[in-house]
Amino acid sequence: MSFKDLGLSEPLLKAISKKGYTTPSPIQEKAIPPVLEGRDVLASAQTGTGKTAGFTLPLLHYLSENPKTKFRPIRALILTPTRELAAQVHQSVMDYSEFLDIRSAVIFGGVNQKPQAATIRRGVDILVATPGRLLDLHNQNLLSLKRVEVFILDEADRMLDMGFLRDIEKVMSVMPAKRQNLMFSATFSKDIKKLANGILNNPVQVEA
Ligand code: AMP
Repeated sequence: MSFKDLGLSEPLLKAISKKGYTTPSPIQEKAIPPVLEGRDVLASAQTGTGKTAGFTLPLLHYLSENPKTKFRPIRALILTPTRELAAQVHQSVMDYSEFLDIRSAVIFGGVNQKPQAATIRRGVDILVATPGRLLDLHNQNLLSLKRVEVFILDEADRMLDMGFLRDIEKVMSVMPAKRQNLMFSATFSKDIKKLANGILNNPVQVEA
């Protein structure tokens, strides 16, 4: 199995080969096809398995093949538990989108919100965020999630451990009901399964 066999577009294949990847990792092989089909996906994957590319590559494929208006609403939201992970995921998004007309931004707490708000105001297709700062900016009407088509919850188990359940629920309440949802978690407790039930519609389950 190659990245080309997975049906990814040429600009993505170019970025992948620039990164030096030759073959998809198991989680990528399993997650990319259902994500490309538009299905909700529940993935069990630890860090280091290549999970970030597992959701970023098909997301970029979908967004670039289905371009929207010049005015760029946030079409995809990636929520992560920590600023470090947010920065890391955003770096991957930037690397893989090098040859695409896709804009992205990352926001997290602990730093001045002004540059983050200014970037969002100029229009981004993909927003990577931690829950607190996302809701802060949302409460100040500095961003809208009304046009989100794809919602990705990364490291869902750590999200719950860090007490972000209420924030996740609030974020979900301000996005359109009709959207694609992807959820990644290393572990599957009762609480995680409950969260998955509340987020995902008829999900495909994949394991690394
Ligand atoms: P992740 O699990 O998403 O944090 O990725 C772990 C590491 O694997 C990152 O440094 C990626 O750049 C790298 N990686 C992701 N996919 C592949 C692949 N198909 N081949 C080689 N390395 C990869």
